[in-house]
Amino acid sequence: MEEASYRIGKSQLKILQGDITEQDTDAIVNAANPSLMGGGGVDGAIHRKGGPKILEECRKIRAAAWPKGLPTGKAVITTGGRLKAKYVIHTVGPVWRGGSRDEAKSLAEAYMNSLRLAVDKGLRSISFPSISTGAYGYPIDEACKVAVSTVIDFLTNNGRIDEVRFILFSSRDFEVYKKEVESRFR
Ligand code: ADP
Repeated sequence: MEEASYRIGKSQLKILQGDITEQDTDAIVNAANPSLMGGGGVDGAIHRKGGPKILEECRKIRAAAWPKGLPTGKAVITTGGRLKAKYVIHTVGPVWRGGSRDEAKSLAEAYMNSLRLAVDKGLRSISFPSISTGAYGYPIDEACKVAVSTVIDFLTNNGRIDEVRFILFSSRDFEVYKKEVESRFR
């Protein structure tokens, strides 16, 4: 498995090829859908490995705060259940509709609101999947630019997160993210 690490201020930005459900950061981020009731891709993997407690808390969050579903770009937090990570931050990325429906803005919000929630909870480390680039169809090259710039801006302006990881399932996606981060250090 491949890995690359970069220093941004006092924080570390890591890019890893692997499975997000195996990460030992304080939180892992779920690329959820508005129902918060699970699904395919990362979402399915997280609920399978984390167990039923995560879904139970998602149900409570829906009932208490988001009866019609979690809007695109928002983030909520639950326990990590049986995962190594203590918490799961569930966010909803945009469905790709060609790029002129504010997809980039919504995707940046999904990353930013997840990071803010982590800070609010006093968490120091967080792992992200490549939000929206699976079932939601966002082209990886474009999604990667938004993901990387949002996280780097956040780490540059906020010293309260020690480590952010991007976890990419495929070696091709890993290379896309690595190239994008390195282009910003040249
Ligand atoms: P979305 O609906 O936001 O597009 P998906 O889960 O369909 O979310 O896909 C997002 C990305 O996560 C895809 O690149 C997919 O290959 C990847 N992925 C799927 N399972 C995992 C996993 N266990 N760990 C890390 N990445 C994963």
